[in-house]
Amino acid sequence: MSGGTERSFSVDNARNIGLCRLCGAPLEHTFVDLGMSPPCESFVPAAAVNNMEPYYPLHAFVCSECFLVQLGEYVAPEEIFEEYAYFSSYSDSWVAHAKRYCQLATERLSLDRDSFVVEIASNDGYLLQHFLEKDIPILGIEPAINVAKVAVEKGIPTLTDFFGKALAKQMVAEGRQADLIIGNNVLAQVPDLNDFVAGMKVLLKPSGAITLEFPHIARLIEENQFDTIYHEHFSYFSLLTIEKMAERHGLKVFDVEELPTHGGSLRVYLTHAANAIRREPRVDALLERERECKLDRVETYTAFAAAVRQTKRNLLSFLIRLKEMRKSICAYGAPGKGNTLLNYCGIGTDFIDFAVDRNPYKHGRFTPGMHIPIKPVSEIERTKPDYILILPWNLKNEIVSQMKGIGEWGGKFVVPIPDVSVIDPKELGQ
Ligand SMILES: [Zn+2]
Repeated sequence: MSGGTERSFSVDNARNIGLCRLCGAPLEHTFVDLGMSPPCESFVPAAAVNNMEPYYPLHAFVCSECFLVQLGEYVAPEEIFEEYAYFSSYSDSWVAHAKRYCQLATERLSLDRDSFVVEIASNDGYLLQHFLEKDIPILGIEPAINVAKVAVEKGIPTLTDFFGKALAKQMVAEGRQADLIIGNNVLAQVPDLNDFVAGMKVLLKPSGAITLEFPHIARLIEENQFDTIYHEHFSYFSLLTIEKMAERHGLKVFDVEELPTHGGSLRVYLTHAANAIRREPRVDALLERERECKLDRVETYTAFAAAVRQTKRNLLSFLIRLKEMRKSICAYGAPGKGNTLLNYCGIGTDFIDFAVDRNPYKHGRFTPGMHIPIKPVSEIERTKPDYILILPWNLKNEIVSQMKGIGEWGGKFVVPIPDVSVIDPKELGQ
């Protein structure tokens, strides 16, 4: 469903947000401008539904020096993170992913009772719990108070704080240096990137390793995943950019894996630049592929915005057709990315009757901005909607298999990204 080339008379409407948060070069090029949006994890309680809601620009830029795609720090981190609604343990596939990682890391880095593993942004302890089972000493660092509390209740030592150089120095002064530092889906969320990486450098033992997971910008661009852009995600990385970041801080990349999580992520392995560990050939292979995809050219990034606008028109045309046929539509999942999509496209209760989510924290609340009511998953069985729009499309296989019973009343799934597609559960094998 792709359209022709878009004609546009506006030149670049970039409002300069200042300097690149990694290399300090002036930011002059727009990656995509998604308009104004409320913070995507600020689910609105019923009592506040008539109150004014803060909206901030969702305008991403690309640095022409280091190719870091980035948002300005429009929203204060405290406002985003103090009460965070995302509990990692509510996704089965994510918990399984974490368990496999712990097994692999324990073997590869020979971790044992004398080791020390630190996870930054440890959420509800979904990952560290697997090291706890192995009696490997652990510490979680998690700024969201309500989420950290859940981890502590599971017996996972957790520090409620923001990580940076100051905290790392304090830990080292207390005699605690890490054999392994884990940062899963946190790098993107760090406003002061250089302070964060400098902190990891300080905290890491000479022989230690850092693993970082983050969505790969190559996949974001190729698969049109514009809805993974939201205020909480300040930065979007290629391996080319990660390598520049590592070099800047006396670190080096020694391995990289491509993962299917979050629509296509990288897991990079870093260590001190002075560490003699061998660099795996797949690092240079991926860097070469990124150059082939022209991720070292600013034009590759600035072409993205037109594809995003086309996706918005396609999705709206599709939903309008469904409503003209008097079909009922609900949304499955109310993830952060869903709110970027809903707000950017202007999809509210005129299209979507309600959203369901497995996280009880969200029940009775409304999606930020569009105010779609969020209900338990059982609401689908009760109301039997014709179409279910899957907002966390990265979990679509898991959701389709859990919910394939909707085929009994002729229900179908709609996946919005990379382009609108319909899945009829009756056409799937048993
Ligand atoms: Zn830069």
